[in-house]
This record gives sequence, C-alpha cells and structure tokens, in this order.
Amino acid sequence: MTTIIDGKAVAAALRADVAKDAIAFTGKYGRRPGLAVVLVGNDPASEVYVGSKVRLTREAEMSSFEHRLPAETSEADLLALVQKLNEDDLVDGILVQLPVPRHIDSGKVIQAIDPAKDVDGLHPENAGRLMAGLPGLAPCTPLGSMLLIESVQKDLSGLHAVVIGRSVLVGKPIAQMLLAANATVTMAHSRTKDLPAMCRSADILVAAVGVPELVKGDWIKPGAIVIDVGINRLPPSEGANKGRLVGDVAFDEAKVLAGAITPVPGGVGPMTIACLLQNTLTAARRRVGATA
Ligand code: NAP
Repeated sequence: MTTIIDGKAVAAALRADVAKDAIAFTGKYGRRPGLAVVLVGNDPASEVYVGSKVRLTREAEMSSFEHRLPAETSEADLLALVQKLNEDDLVDGILVQLPVPRHIDSGKVIQAIDPAKDVDGLHPENAGRLMAGLPGLAPCTPLGSMLLIESVQKDLSGLHAVVIGRSVLVGKPIAQMLLAANATVTMAHSRTKDLPAMCRSADILVAAVGVPELVKGDWIKPGAIVIDVGINRLPPSEGANKGRLVGDVAFDEAKVLAGAITPVPGGVGPMTIACLLQNTLTAARRRVGATA
C-alpha cells in the first residue's frame, strides 16, 4: 500500500508547534519573533508567495514586517534596506523574495543579509555551515523535504538517496542533509548518463528539476520514498491538463511502485513556508541567546 505523504498536514502541525513556541518566546522576552519580507516589483507569483508568508507569519504568532518596493528600485536602495533590517532589533529573519528584477544582483543582496537573520538559508556562510555540519540556518524547501522523508522513515542509515538537480536552493542542500542523516547520496543532473537506471537504484528519490513529469513510473524502485520538489504549470493549451500544476514525477505512474510519495500540489510546497517560520523562531532564539 503506497503512503501518499500529506505535506499540508505535516506543515500545519509544524506551524502549530512554531506558534506555541512563539507565544512562549513572547512571554519570556517581551516581544514577538519578527520576520521581514521584501518584495521588489509586482511579479504575480511572488505577490502570492509574499501574501501567504505574511498571513502565515501572523497566524504563527510572529510579527510580520512587509516591504513592497517598486520594480525600478535601485540595487543600492535595496542593499540599504537590507542593512537597516540587519540593524533592526525587532527583526529576527529577513527574506528577500526571489527573483529580483534583472538590474539587481541577487547574489549581492543575499550576501548583504546578516547570516544570523538569513532565514532562507542562502547566504554562503550558512551554506558552508550546512556542509561543515555546524549550526546555521538551512534552506527551507530542503528542510521541509527532509521532514517529509523522516515522517515515513526515521532511520536513513545506509539507504541510497538519489537527488536529481544540483541547485544551490534545493539539490545541493538536500544532498548535504541526506548525507548528514547517513544516507549514501548520488547527485544527478542534466549531464547524468542513464538517469532512469540511476533512479531505479534509489531507496529515496528526490526530484528537484523543473521538468514536468520527467521521472516515469518505471524509474521507481519498488517501495522507494519519492519526494517531488518540482512545481510546474502546464501550458494553457494542453487539453484537459490546461494550466494544471504538476511535479517532476509522473505521480499516477510512480505511486504504483513507490512505498511513499509526495503529491503536487500538497506535498513539499506547504513545507517551505512552515520551515521558514521555524527558521525565524530559531534565529530569534539564537539572537536572544536561548538554545534553539
Ligand atoms: P534549477 O535551479 O533550475 O535547477 C534544476 C536542476 O535540474 C539543475 O541542476 C539541472 O541540471 C537539473 N536538470 C534539468 N533538466 C534535467 C534533466 N532533463 N535531467 C536531469 N537533471 C536535469 O531549479 P530549482 O530551483 O532547484 O527548482 C527545481 C524545481 O523545484 C522547480 O520546479 C521549482 O519550481 C521547484 N521548487 C519548488 C519549491 C517548493 O517550495 N516546493 C521551492 C523551490 C523550487 P544542470 O545543473 O546540469 O543544469
């Protein structure tokens, strides 16, 4: 019997725990943990993400500081805002919604964020900490994916994990997390030879590619845990599928062989914001010197 991993439920439980801990934090330190979200421009998808982040931050008993800047904001002005937020004691976490407009260097912006407030976990210092096994702030989507894996399999020791995708945002950090959990990790990417065979050897398969339904049913090892990070919207012209959201895994085929699998939507997606809130709480605790 295949387990369909319910990311919505796991995320809701995590957000409820974070809210409880945020109330305790406020009681002890006299202020709420605070998350600042910066949106430059009006990309419709980013508007939706930022709207959800603000709403869920408030629902998690934290302060939300929203900064919406026009698309023509200069890089210097954005960097100045980041600096102001770095120095603001009420702000524990800073998230600059990506992508930023083309005239702004996103790398420069990420590196301007105080690593202690980098709740997206993208600052090179936090990436290095993850690699070195030191405490830091890790990227939210891989963190959420790991929680989903651990919701169905506590001990990953010796299991073969195949990660498709090597982005700084997802592929590389989740590979580090799986390695830290004692899995044997293979990273695959666009130059990997015989990807189907590679996937068939995976006890844990993480797809973070951005290619709709790339992973077919017969690529799945029977009983494998399949984590589909992909979020792809099919074009409006594709008949009955028009505009539908699909992952990087052909879900209906893959669920036949998988032991556990995440759906899209409703799998990894909801975990990302839940982990962002958890990271904000962690950052707040560290900033006041409490153990996280
Ligand atoms: P990305 O930066 O574009 O990286 C994609 C990776 O996939 C690259 O490493 C690329 O290989 C590899 N790849 C591309 N085509 C391939 C193929 N045919 N076979 C094997 N590997 C291939 O993407 P990303 O930011 O990691 O995001 C991946 C997916 O996750 C996207 O659908 C994105 O929307 C989704 N996502 C979801 C969440 C969430 O909250 N659920 C968060 C972030 C991202 P090369 O390195 O060789 O080019």
